[in-house]
Amino acid sequence: MPLADTHCHLQDHRFDDDRAAVLERSLDALDWLLVVGDDLDTSRRAVAMIRDQVYAAVGLHPYHAGRLDASALELLSGLAASQGVVAIGEIGLDYYRYAETSPAEQRRAFEAQLELAATLRLPVIIHNRDADDDTAAILANARDRLPGVIMHCFGSSAAFAAKCVELGFHVSFAGNITFPKAEPLRQAAAVVPIDRILIETDSPYLAPQPVRGKRCEPLHIHHTAGCVADLKGVTLAEFAEWTSSNAARLFRVAAGPQQV
Ligand SMILES: [Zn+2]
Ligand SMILES: [Zn+2]
Repeated sequence: MPLADTHCHLQDHRFDDDRAAVLERSLDALDWLLVVGDDLDTSRRAVAMIRDQVYAAVGLHPYHAGRLDASALELLSGLAASQGVVAIGEIGLDYYRYAETSPAEQRRAFEAQLELAATLRLPVIIHNRDADDDTAAILANARDRLPGVIMHCFGSSAAFAAKCVELGFHVSFAGNITFPKAEPLRQAAAVVPIDRILIETDSPYLAPQPVRGKRCEPLHIHHTAGCVADLKGVTLAEFAEWTSSNAARLFRVAAGPQQV
């Protein structure tokens, strides 16, 4: 099954004890992984994990937006030039929790990193929580200069999913779409055309239903893939082909060996 995990944090300290083993079984089960940074340190560690079938994204999450000064931007830009860095992310807005970083500071860091992505011609991985209107407005301004926009771990309404599709974005679903109470997320997936859907684990967070509450790892993506395949009315194999080719095209990653 040619599945890829387009968003995981395998550099997270929760994998310190068994990272090599997790990586090995992930790559046995999946075509490739994208390890995503959320601050300078995790971005650096994501880049250090790059190897065959392992790619990285670098960026400052809105929680860390306050740290985006000129030198941080220069460091990110240097990291982004590494072979195997395929996106800028995760970046965006999170108005759910902004004790440390005000919305204004978040917007400034978001826009600066979109500018970096545009300059480097890299797609962007967007974290958006409780900030639909501002996220859409900022991205609508920047989208013509970006090779791709991915709404990661989509958590908004079906109406907002439709708006993202209209703006030309890809929408990525994580394990929380499998939760019993996640009907609104399943409704959102229903309005996204299959050629715009990505799936991800966001490991170590959001383990899907059968393993919910445990540390998530990339091979749990099969549960999420099965759930979204059912919603789209296609077989798991068909869905895997779709979502993998969507991701391969977007991140300019060679499709896996099983893919024809
Ligand atoms: Zn996120
Ligand atoms: Zn994440």
